[in-house]
Amino acid sequence: MILKGPVMSKDKIARPRDLKLLSIVIPVFNEAQVLPKLQVRLGSVRTEVPCESEIVFVNDGSSDDSGAILLRWAAQDRSVKVIELSRNFGHQAAITAGVDHAQGDAVILMDADLQDPPELIGEMVGKYRQGFDIVHATRVKRHGETLLKRASASLFYWIMSKFIHRDLPQNAGDFRLMSSEAASALRSLRETHRFLRGMVTWVGFRQTSLQFEREPRAAGETKFPARKMVGLALDAVFSFSSAPLRVSTYLGCAVLVFGMVYSGYTVARYFIYNDLVPGWATLVILQSAIGGAILISLGMMGEYIGRIYDEIKRRPLYIVGRTTNISSKRGNSTE
Ligand code: UDP
Ligand code: MG
Repeated sequence: MILKGPVMSKDKIARPRDLKLLSIVIPVFNEAQVLPKLQVRLGSVRTEVPCESEIVFVNDGSSDDSGAILLRWAAQDRSVKVIELSRNFGHQAAITAGVDHAQGDAVILMDADLQDPPELIGEMVGKYRQGFDIVHATRVKRHGETLLKRASASLFYWIMSKFIHRDLPQNAGDFRLMSSEAASALRSLRETHRFLRGMVTWVGFRQTSLQFEREPRAAGETKFPARKMVGLALDAVFSFSSAPLRVSTYLGCAVLVFGMVYSGYTVARYFIYNDLVPGWATLVILQSAIGGAILISLGMMGEYIGRIYDEIKRRPLYIVGRTTNISSKRGNSTE
């Protein structure tokens, strides 16, 4: 299942180092069906990892039994920590809450549904000990995902790498390891619209990647309907680039040039042939072309203005209801 992967060019400058505590951050939203399986798989991986480890669960407002299962698990094992958010804040905010509370020298982000195989953790730790700060896990195959999801993911990564975020590792989800330095750099980014994989790439440090085949969900259903996927893709584009604003400028220029050429043609025709029909069709075509261009431009402005509005509110990214097995808080939700 796990393949050895090619690594990024930054590999050479790595320096070996120690690892005392490993934090595994897992966001949970209605995952009662998978948690027992996760407990078994994580349990055996944790005994093999050559250091202490803690699991930081973030219960993102689950309405099923997930909360109770996590608390039972935490009661048996003090290294299992639970942060309960006051409601559902979404995957990216939940991961942020987990990273804020993680105490380890290295922090791993993974999903609860076992689509990110815990068995890869050993290899990630190996890379960390060689001196890498960020280890991305990239998906070489996706099992059990719909054609629409796979196609939209390919298109998304293609657009991102071509136009927006050239360094973004292809097909890497949020499954990755970060050193405490990289994690604290990430903690300092408090923007509201979060596309964490872009942000992790942005912080820099020594980065590398491993490959794995993505299994289907162990149980339950995806918590990412198309609406949320589109929202995440829009954040990925608009939070990292002002290129779309430029598109509207180009579009405006193209429409303008077209309008000038067409006007020239109309004037020439008027003087040479003097055979102009009332011009209703022409007006309609020009109107709709220009109207379209203006609306597109306005829409793009709107995307940014909406984001500016959200950012200046400086709302906390999440609100913690209750924590279990966590004594000192490392960060908080606003700063
Ligand atoms: N998740 C979350 N809050 C949400 C949606 C999802 O914490 O609002 C968690 C979910 O429990 C899982 C992870 O984020 O651990 C990834 O979600 P999912 O597997 O549904 O996404 P997919 O793999 O289908 O993209
Ligand atoms: Mg999943």
